[in-house]
Amino acid sequence: MPSRELTLQTNQRRQILDITDAVAEALTDMDISDGLLCVSVPHCTCCVYVNENESGLLEDTLSLLEQLAARGIWRHDRIDDNADAHLCASLVGNSVMLPIRGGRMELGTWQRIMLVELDGPRSRRSITVTAIG
Ligand code: ZN
Repeated sequence: MPSRELTLQTNQRRQILDITDAVAEALTDMDISDGLLCVSVPHCTCCVYVNENESGLLEDTLSLLEQLAARGIWRHDRIDDNADAHLCASLVGNSVMLPIRGGRMELGTWQRIMLVELDGPRSRRSITVTAIG
């Protein structure tokens, strides 16, 4: 079961990054024509989802997450003041699964794989790309 690790750096507390091209390149490198692709992050304060990369929607997504989990009102904040980041990461999830057909991951015309940094900036975030086929 081939897998690849990608890494990236974030530069804001909260930001959304399009990782589609990097994931597609990793898949090409794994040489699997048909199967399943899992993109996951081994972190508690960032997450991944699939949707459109449109600037208004990116701002809306960050606004929604802010509204879902306000900052500074949670018990975990007594330890390291980032409970809102943990809670949003739990809600969005740490992985996405996509079909692989003809050596390419199957995404709709406007679909992109997005990583959400919730407690940056971080010098190193990892993304694990695993293919089964
Ligand atoms: Zn924490």
